[in-house]
Amino acid sequence: MAALTELSSAELRELHAQLTADYAALVERGLSLDITRGKPSAEQLDLSNALLTLPGEGNYRDAAGTDLRNYGNPQGLPGLRAIFSDVLRVPVPQLLALGSSSLTIMHDVVVHALLHGLPESERPWSREETVSFICPVPGYDRHFAITEHLGIRMIPVAMTDAGPDVAQVERLLAEDPTIRGMWCVPVHSNPTGAVYTEEVARALVSLPAASDFRIFWDNAYAVHHLTDDVPEPIDILSLAAEAGNPDRVFVFASTSKVTYAGAGVAFFGSSPENVSWYLSHAAVQSIGPDKLNQLRHVQFLKDEAGVKAHMLRHRALIEPKFTAVSEVFERRLSPYGAGSWTTPTGGYFVSLDVHDGCAERAVALAAQAGIAVTPAGSTYPYHRDPRDANIRIAPTMPSLAELVDALEGMCTAILLAEVEQLLG
Ligand code: PLP
Repeated sequence: MAALTELSSAELRELHAQLTADYAALVERGLSLDITRGKPSAEQLDLSNALLTLPGEGNYRDAAGTDLRNYGNPQGLPGLRAIFSDVLRVPVPQLLALGSSSLTIMHDVVVHALLHGLPESERPWSREETVSFICPVPGYDRHFAITEHLGIRMIPVAMTDAGPDVAQVERLLAEDPTIRGMWCVPVHSNPTGAVYTEEVARALVSLPAASDFRIFWDNAYAVHHLTDDVPEPIDILSLAAEAGNPDRVFVFASTSKVTYAGAGVAFFGSSPENVSWYLSHAAVQSIGPDKLNQLRHVQFLKDEAGVKAHMLRHRALIEPKFTAVSEVFERRLSPYGAGSWTTPTGGYFVSLDVHDGCAERAVALAAQAGIAVTPAGSTYPYHRDPRDANIRIAPTMPSLAELVDALEGMCTAILLAEVEQLLG
């Protein structure tokens, strides 16, 4: 089979007639499938159901005998911080276990910086005429939503397989003094699955930048591997300190996709100075986190080996779904040169690029056929994908059969959108 771009007009018209018929049959099926968001499936959530009976009556004290039903301990339980300290490469005293959403912490950190400034800031960020963030693209829509919502200008930078394009970041930092932050998902990035190399990480913490420039190192997928090729965690705080920028990095993570999404435990880690800064503001917001939830997580996960074993059970459930994505795309899109996609070694997403100018139409066609996909453009700041090419696929939530149905329908929609475009 020849690539779409090599077909004659007559061949394209013939294919268009076939795809139109396939699409009509698809719509006729009245599907209702959803591959929009990176949510764990019910089977994945079941893996953590022991949490529902923990900590158990009479079992609410920590090793020191403290009654965890009460207020206090703004840093969170040391036992839980110890479990995640090594994989996040944040020393326990600098790692806080907080509420149930890392996204909330990221949002609040930006708000604190806007209202009060960081320790090195000349003034609160909100008193600067413009504050800008570097946004690797394609990236995580909810990161971009935080910065957009809070009036921060977003500057896209291309992602590579090794992390953001460092030369572009360097040039921007040198040229633009309004840049105060950068979003990063260093391991199994959302949505490309890229894993930052240590070389890229070292460059990011070393580049000349404003003294209150911060890297938002969102290590959401630190333990979410799909192969045996597990990347060595990057000790980003030590790299930053070695580069003479010890306060440059804020580390975030959570157990949303380890235990329960939105009902797990979120972490914040940074330099001692940044942690004090954060705690000084957090103390006004809260008299302490939900330590009972933290305690049940300690009892359930036990130690780092417990986390690893648990994540292997997740992998067993979701690896076939990622394999299905590659299999369907390879079979349906490859013969026509209709798209290219990532094959992640972990995380929750596949990033698919279709022909320029076709993503929005393909997603709309899929939606009309009852297949909900993340809106085209979502992976870019302001929902503006300059090529209108990127589509994020989130395969974990539906059953394997539903996923394959959704992907097959999606491929029909993509091919139809592309043939329509070529026929002009
Ligand atoms: N960070 C990234 C990169 C994510 O992909 C997600 C969820 O999809 C989150 C954060 C959400 O984290 P939480 O549930 O801890 O707020």
